[in-house]
Amino acid sequence: MKAVVLEAVQQPLVVKDVPAPAIGAQDVLIRVQACGTCHTDLHLSEGMFVPFGVNKFPLIPGHEVTGVVDRVGAQVTHLKPGDRVGVYFVFGCGHCSYCVAGEDENCTTIWTGSRLGGFSLDGGYAEYMRAPADCVMRLPEELDFVDAAPFFCAGLTMYGGIKNGGYRPGQRVAVLGIGGLGHLGLQIANAMGAEVIAVTATGAKKELAHSLGAHHVINGTGGDVGAQLRALGGANVVLSTTLDTQLIAGAMQGLATEGALVLAAVTVESIPVVPALLLAFQHRIVGSLVGSRGDMQELLQLAAKHKIRPMTEIYPLEQANEVHARLRAQQVRFRAVLTPA
Ligand SMILES: [Zn+2]
Ligand SMILES: [Zn+2]
Repeated sequence: MKAVVLEAVQQPLVVKDVPAPAIGAQDVLIRVQACGTCHTDLHLSEGMFVPFGVNKFPLIPGHEVTGVVDRVGAQVTHLKPGDRVGVYFVFGCGHCSYCVAGEDENCTTIWTGSRLGGFSLDGGYAEYMRAPADCVMRLPEELDFVDAAPFFCAGLTMYGGIKNGGYRPGQRVAVLGIGGLGHLGLQIANAMGAEVIAVTATGAKKELAHSLGAHHVINGTGGDVGAQLRALGGANVVLSTTLDTQLIAGAMQGLATEGALVLAAVTVESIPVVPALLLAFQHRIVGSLVGSRGDMQELLQLAAKHKIRPMTEIYPLEQANEVHARLRAQQVRFRAVLTPA
């Protein structure tokens, strides 16, 4: 099969012919129709996850995968060839305390146990992908393959982040940054019944933010973000998709009492924290890593019902390097999706 291979970190991707993956009794072989590209694919190729044990190369990246079931293992009963599916890429062990609690994303073995599709196991930058059947789920009819793919990381990161922030229906959710993550965050928060505030880094994208479901748009560079959020009553959840630590610190000052700052984008920069303010208003800072399999199923239904759609650029598999270059240069509007067909 045709595949895009990362042969070693800090090397360009290589398009080549490799054997199609073998499957076990509890696996599914998927004929990939679409695979979203994510900033973490760049981090992977740059070696950021090597210290976490993600160090097996060559590897086929890609963790936002949708496609058609091609074959199922002997013990798989809930899927059949021809089913339209997507892959939840955290292949939890199924029996640690987190997996048992339905929090697959915290499985104790995900980093050490080679259980991350597209990171420590071959992913979806290919014509075929193997996945454990338990992590393969049917797509609602309303979602096509390209539109559904980005939900499997970007969308889930937003949905899981809002839930991890302790969101309750009707509360105010501020989304920082309107990019690959944020443009889905606005739509998802709106569909969840929130009063949605978009905080843009530049003041641009105001009309776009409204069209994506924002009730209010704040210019992140046009004055005190915290004061602007407080003027709206304060944000119960600030969902940060930005790497701009100044913007994050500013927005934190705009949390409502008991509000949560949810960090959903990967940065190693520090943000200033004043413990007395956290204490006085019982603010929380929450790290959020994708979401659970249950969250994923909920999100697919929410997306189908509320017509949530990513804005995508579509590229053939062969252009994976060009797509990564566009990601690196922040040129992708808003999610780039590879299609092997
Ligand atoms: Zn586990
Ligand atoms: Zn991702």
